[in-house]
Amino acid sequence: MKTTGFRSIVLYILLFAFLGGLGYFLVNLVLNGDKWAMQPYNGHIYAGNSTVTLGEIRDRNDNLLASTVDGARVYSDDETVRRALMHTVGDTAGYISTSVQYTMRSKLAGYNLIFGLNDTIFNKLGNNIDLTVDQNACVAAYNAMGENNGAAIAYNYKTGEILCKVSKPTFDPSNPPEDLAENEEAYEGVYLDNTLSGSFTPGSIFKVVTAAAAMERWPDSWQSITYDCAGTAEIGGDSITCLHGDAHGTQDMYSAMGNSCNIFFAHLANDLGKEALEEKAEEMGFNKEFHLGSVPISESTIDLSNANTNELGWASVGQYTVLANPYHMMVLMGAIAGGGSYVQPKLTTGSDLLGDLTQGDSRQLVTSTEASQLKSLLRSDVENYYGDWLFPEGMNVCAKTGTGEVGEGKAPNCWMVGFCDSDTYPIAFAVLVEEGTGGIESAGTVAAAMLSALA
Ligand SMILES: [Zn+2]
Repeated sequence: MKTTGFRSIVLYILLFAFLGGLGYFLVNLVLNGDKWAMQPYNGHIYAGNSTVTLGEIRDRNDNLLASTVDGARVYSDDETVRRALMHTVGDTAGYISTSVQYTMRSKLAGYNLIFGLNDTIFNKLGNNIDLTVDQNACVAAYNAMGENNGAAIAYNYKTGEILCKVSKPTFDPSNPPEDLAENEEAYEGVYLDNTLSGSFTPGSIFKVVTAAAAMERWPDSWQSITYDCAGTAEIGGDSITCLHGDAHGTQDMYSAMGNSCNIFFAHLANDLGKEALEEKAEEMGFNKEFHLGSVPISESTIDLSNANTNELGWASVGQYTVLANPYHMMVLMGAIAGGGSYVQPKLTTGSDLLGDLTQGDSRQLVTSTEASQLKSLLRSDVENYYGDWLFPEGMNVCAKTGTGEVGEGKAPNCWMVGFCDSDTYPIAFAVLVEEGTGGIESAGTVAAAMLSALA
């Protein structure tokens, strides 16, 4: 009797272990089956003569961006479209890990739990995906960047639809260059989408944050604050200079924003203190995670804990160690345009991985009062300093330019961030041109080309 009892126990243990393992496997199959099936090293999914057919990808105007023909992945007929949309659509080898073709590959392949991949009866062609981007706006931004690298991203701040997303350097996914791996100078960072995965010295576009911190601290008197600018000033034992050493004279917030007076903002930041500036920057999304569906966005960062008085001055104008990400700058502009909170951007018309997936991020980046005050400052920049002639008529653009000095003998990062204060064109944008010639000349030209294509 005793032996039988012992054997039963052993059998029961084995049975439970077996059922437990089976259960574990099944749960994992349900949760992760699509990921296992769609690993990039599962090369036959992506390569020619594939037994799995990926669905089509189209832009918002039904232009075909990618499809599968005779088992091979083919892209747009137009080489410029292929280059301009490479980071958004993806490459055949699956290196662009933030692209639609990579992040939504199981949907494109028509994977399902019961039939897996290559289900010839029920889902032979995979699923198609419609993007919110406009290929013509992407091409316009790409061409306007000329030889320069950079990022251009724009979205409808009311619906969240991303209308334009371009990153350079890039390559033609139909004809990947043979020296892609070796030629580091030409293709450094080519697999990174600069709009989502890059952070760059912001320069003067950061003055929007410094201005907002002053609005919060001095809600009734910020408009009457003035400082004198002689083109250069001793602050904290070292100099702060304005671009080209221009002496701007007595500046208030409006003229300092329009003239992009570094000395005004350096004094302002020191009156605010570094804690207040860093806190405001964090409220506005610095040091915070953002997501586009399942894709984490490279953070904009600020850390003033070790900054001295002079360094605080430089940080307030987007130098020192401050970094900004183009996607984040775009949603910040969308929040200012939208009364303080931003609408979650999305890249597909469905409710899929790169769609409107709620991540629990706080959507409010500034108060509604600050939003309307910042809007009037940014509108004044274009109306009184940059010129409305830059942009299509009636767009009522509000914007700030920046030139972020990057050192190493390189020309600056040139930025323009902004939005149209318009019900017809509810568009917010961020443009970065690396090693450009100036905020308006380099980034303004790209922003104007992009907005013209969207007009
Ligand atoms: Zn100045």
